[in-house]
Amino acid sequence: MPNQVELSIIVPLYNEEKNITKLCDALISIIQKLNYATEILLIDDGSKDNTANIISSIAISDDRFNSIILSRNHGHQLALTAGFRYVRASKAIFILDGDLQDPPEMIVNFLEKFNQGYDVVYGIRKNRKESFLKKQMYWFYYRLIKNIANIDLPADSGDFALISRKVVDYLNTMPEQNRYLRGMRAWVGFKQTGIEYNRSARHDGKSNYSWKKLFELAYSGIFNFSDLPVKFITRLGVISTIIALFYLTTVFIKRIWFDGVPVGFTALIAAIVMFGGVQLISLGIIGEYVLRIYKQVQQRPLFIVDKIVRDKKIHNGQDFQS
Ligand code: UDP
Ligand code: MG
Repeated sequence: MPNQVELSIIVPLYNEEKNITKLCDALISIIQKLNYATEILLIDDGSKDNTANIISSIAISDDRFNSIILSRNHGHQLALTAGFRYVRASKAIFILDGDLQDPPEMIVNFLEKFNQGYDVVYGIRKNRKESFLKKQMYWFYYRLIKNIANIDLPADSGDFALISRKVVDYLNTMPEQNRYLRGMRAWVGFKQTGIEYNRSARHDGKSNYSWKKLFELAYSGIFNFSDLPVKFITRLGVISTIIALFYLTTVFIKRIWFDGVPVGFTALIAAIVMFGGVQLISLGIIGEYVLRIYKQVQQRPLFIVDKIVRDKKIHNGQDFQS
């Protein structure tokens, strides 16, 4: 099988010990119905529970499964990046979460589109089973980024997708450290389409995306795919200059032709506080770019692999040649 894999399924896992068995059973029953030589690549993203051991033993006992154990928690986007680096599929790569929120059976619909000539088929979340606040924030964020992004980013679509080998090869050539994969996927181009689906609730456990991780991802979306933040500073500067000029002119006219220019202490404080705020926001935005540039020039590897279990053999990540 090794060199003839046509379809790879990537699943990033972080503390998913209670979901793995159910997920693997579902995937097996689906791939049995498909007519593709398939590998399932399970990626452990530095789990603190027993996930790494479970997936290693699955890969040792069943040659349809391979697994990658990362050296620590690198985050969902980098776990997927590791997956993209090691998949062997010649045709397509299917990406889904390990908590059964993404229905595995959708692969059938995705493949149908793929066979019609689409390079990327992504899922569009018709509804979510999340808290009210999270739902509103997701809704707002996806509309915001769609409007400000330099490229066409589909709303309500995440990493759940089927991607052609060609697109994955391009993703592998992109060295950016802050990875917003759904954006990078759209950036690559070719024929892309979305299919609506209902996003289920998590099978077991709670979300591993802390608010911090969620905000980091959202930031990467905005800063990596929109020039608006930095342009916003210039606009803010222009607007405040215009306001200041207008104010100065009126004071000047009053002083020449009329009496009693008000001694505006309140106005002064207000202006200082406001422009102080504007300057801090601007510095923060510039700082965000500097931070990103700094991370990029460090050129650290995107992820570190501890162990790879492939073709029922355990390899040391360091000297494993894909
Ligand atoms: N995940 C990961 N690394 C992390 C966080 C999450 O590999 O640091 C995996 C997780 O196991 C799951 C997928 O990424 O398979 C999506 O994560 P989660 O379900 O926690 O996010 P949500 O569905 O709440 O957005
Ligand atoms: Mg989830």
